[in-house]
Order: sequence, then structure tokens, then C-alpha cells
Amino acid sequence: MRVFKFGGASVQDAEGIARVHRLVCKYGEGPLWMVVSAMGKTTNQLETLVQAVHRDQWPQAMEILGQLHEAHQARILPLPVNTTDSKRLMNVLEDWMAKLKADLEGMRAKQVPYNCLYDQIVVYGELISTALVSAYFEIQGFVHTWVDAGDLLVTDATWRDARIQWEETVSKVKAFDALHRGAAPPNSGTCVLTQGFMGQDAVSGLRTTLGREGSDFTASVLAYALDAQEVCVWKDVAGVMDADPRLFPMARILPSLTYREAVEMTYYGASVIHPRTIQPLQNKGIPLRVRSFLNPDEGGTVIGEMQDQGRFSPCVIVKKNQCLLELVSKDFSFVGEEGLAMIYKALYDQGLKANLARHTAVSFSLCVDNDPYKRLPVQDILLTNFGIQVTEGLSLWTLMHQSDKMRSGLLAGKQILFEQHLGNVDQYVVVD
Ligand code: ADP
Ligand code: ASP
Ligand code: MG
Repeated sequence: MRVFKFGGASVQDAEGIARVHRLVCKYGEGPLWMVVSAMGKTTNQLETLVQAVHRDQWPQAMEILGQLHEAHQARILPLPVNTTDSKRLMNVLEDWMAKLKADLEGMRAKQVPYNCLYDQIVVYGELISTALVSAYFEIQGFVHTWVDAGDLLVTDATWRDARIQWEETVSKVKAFDALHRGAAPPNSGTCVLTQGFMGQDAVSGLRTTLGREGSDFTASVLAYALDAQEVCVWKDVAGVMDADPRLFPMARILPSLTYREAVEMTYYGASVIHPRTIQPLQNKGIPLRVRSFLNPDEGGTVIGEMQDQGRFSPCVIVKKNQCLLELVSKDFSFVGEEGLAMIYKALYDQGLKANLARHTAVSFSLCVDNDPYKRLPVQDILLTNFGIQVTEGLSLWTLMHQSDKMRSGLLAGKQILFEQHLGNVDQYVVVD
């Protein structure tokens, strides 16, 4: 049993969709689960749609809906299929667009709060993507079963950052897999195709999401539930590198990483893998392969229970769009356990992560993602006890296991607002 995950970049156009089919035919022998996320930058478009609906800007919302429709049409029209099949793909798209529109109308009438609304709408990116990939697979005669991930991944109701309810999820995934395999004709190969990034709240039955870029994590949840032998995430890069090659063209591939190295890199923001991906795999000793969909025969990076030689690879991680919050207690009381508990509770409740935090006697500084829909509620809660100063337009640079020479080269000319050094990890909040 293996789990393959194809992200937005791999299905951003017709060529990509056709390539996914070829890759699965060539490399996906045996029982396979496939996770596919939204096509290209669809999730960003859906976020602007949610914002328009939330502000009751209905004409703008309808305009974005039209753009989404066109963007998907442009992806499926060039697929190498006959006219009847092309029409079939268009019908699949139209059905899903109609469902999305009906849902938008329903939620507009109900004035659903932003974070909940977000989850109900943004998941359409993955639903439409997998519906189209599934229709294309059928046209190509590739036997598989499409399943709604909401029926498998049970979560709590932490909108936009939902937490998996492991017991229920594992039993649902196992039950579905057994049913599906039981129903499959002998030797047909058994492939299940599902969406990344989404789940369903056990109590309300509403859809939830696992945090941006969460489809890698979905693949890992499924692999955990299925006791898979491997997870393979197909990316537009050769593997995990010592820096983001989009920012550092000289970045080099890291052919193997221990779970520990990978979990640290992703924790500090190496966005090639979602940070929650590693833990379930480590718990079951399942290796993760990060592999290029452009050069599939290259080895990529294998993350697993390698002999930890205590030699970490030096790497650089840049987290953009950061914001520094500087809190000072209003009555000059110490930011002790009580203050810290209050701050971290507010962060936890709103699903906002402290990417860097430091406190002195009466002040607390933290660097967070600049997401106003999470940050502003946190600020509102803390305003009762703290004066808050906000600085936007920042990046968080994390340099791991770097020599002094490399560090000063990388930071030359940068305006650093705040820095912290812990062991071999040096972090800098830098003005963009
Ligand atoms: P997906 O298509 O699965 O959503 P992502 O776009 O989330 O894939 O991840 C791939 C991107 O991650 C690459 O294009 C690259 O720019 C970026 N990236 C950031 N850090 C690294 C790193 N250390 N190694 C490789 N790629 C990285
Ligand atoms: N489509 C979602 C996003 O862009 C999830 C994912 O791609 O992993 O965040
Ligand atoms: Mg992505």
C-alpha cells in the first residue's frame, strides 16, 4: 500500500493533469491511495471569493466565481480527449460550479462567521480538482474510486486549522479501504482518489480544513491509518533542498533526511512539506519520498529512520508575510505564568502559531503569520491586559547549522528587528 500526493503545481494545467495520469500508470502499481489538491492557485482565488462573500460584495463574488470557472475550463479544454469526452469534463465542472454557487447563496443568507465560511467554500478547490482528475482517469480507462475526504477525515471544529480525531479517522479509512478492495475486480489494481486538506467536523457535520498546504498532511494521515509502506509527494522541485530554490537558485538537494531533520525544517517554515506531515509517519516508521514530477526517475529526497549521524545539513528557511506583535502588560505586572498562559491560550484558540517568541519582565514579543482573520481576534482578546504594538512587512529567516561566515553572508545588508539564537538555530525577524 502506497500513498501518492499531487499538489497544486502538478495539476496546474492540462499537461500536468495528463502527466499525473502517466505517472500513476507508470509508478503506481499495487494498492494505491491518491491525494490531489486544488489546481494551481485555485485556493488563493477561493480565499478572495470568501472575503467578497463575507463583506457582502456579491457582484465581486460572482465575478470571481466566473474567473474560477474560466480558469478550470482553460485547464481541461486542451486535454487530449475526443469531443464527447471534452463535453463530459465540462459537465463535471459545471455541476460542481453550480453546487458551489448554491452553497454561497445559502451561506450568504445565513451570515456564517468568516473562518467557518472559509472552510465550507475553500474545499471546492480540491473537490473540483479531484472530480476533474477522476473524470479524466475514467476517460482513459484508469480504474479507481473517488471518495469525499470529508467522509473519512474526522476533525474537531477548529476552522482553518482543524485537528484530526485519530480513532474515528483511522477506523473510517480502514473500513473504506476494506470495502473498496473487497469490491474491486481481481488484479484490477486498487486505486482510491481523494482530496487533500479537508475533513469534516464530527459534531456539526460541516466541512473543515487542515491549514494552508495541508494536503501533504492528508497523505500522511491516510498512510498512518492504512499502515502504508511509503508516502510519495510529487513536487515541482527535485526534492527537499537546503533552501527554497525560488529564493536561492544555488540551493542543493538533500538526498536523505532523518525524521528529526525534516520535522525541524518544516517546523521553522520550509514550505516544501506541510509541518504536520512528519509526525504520523515517524510514529509508524513510514518513509516519505519527495520526488519531482518533472524528473520522476531522479531519486528525490527520502525522509525516514536513517542512522542519525548527528550531522545536520546547514539550511536556510525564509517565512514571508510575517508580523511582529510586541505586548507590554498594562499594569506593569510581570509577564509570568499567568500572562503566558493567557497569551498562548488566545493563540491556540484562534489557530495562530507563534513562529518566534521571547519575553522579558513586562513585555512579550512574538512573530506570527500576518493573517488578519486570525491575528486580529488574538489582539482583541489580549488588549484587555496588554498594550500592543504591531509591525507588518517582515520575514522570518531561520538559519540552521550555519557557520559564522555563511550567516554573515546571508544576512548582509538586512535590517534585523529581532533575533534569537538557540543551539544551532539562529532566527532573525527581517524588514522586507
Ligand atoms: P505543492 O504543489 O505540493 O503544493 P508546494 O508549492 O507547496 O508544492 O511546494 C513546492 C515548493 O516549495 C517549491 O516550488 C519550492 O519553491 C518551495 N520550497 C520551499 N522551501 C523548499 C526547500 N527547502 N526545498 C525545496 N523546495 C522548497
Ligand atoms: N489547496 C490547499 C492550499 O493551497 C491545500 C494544499 O494545496 O495542500 O493551501
Ligand atoms: Mg501547495
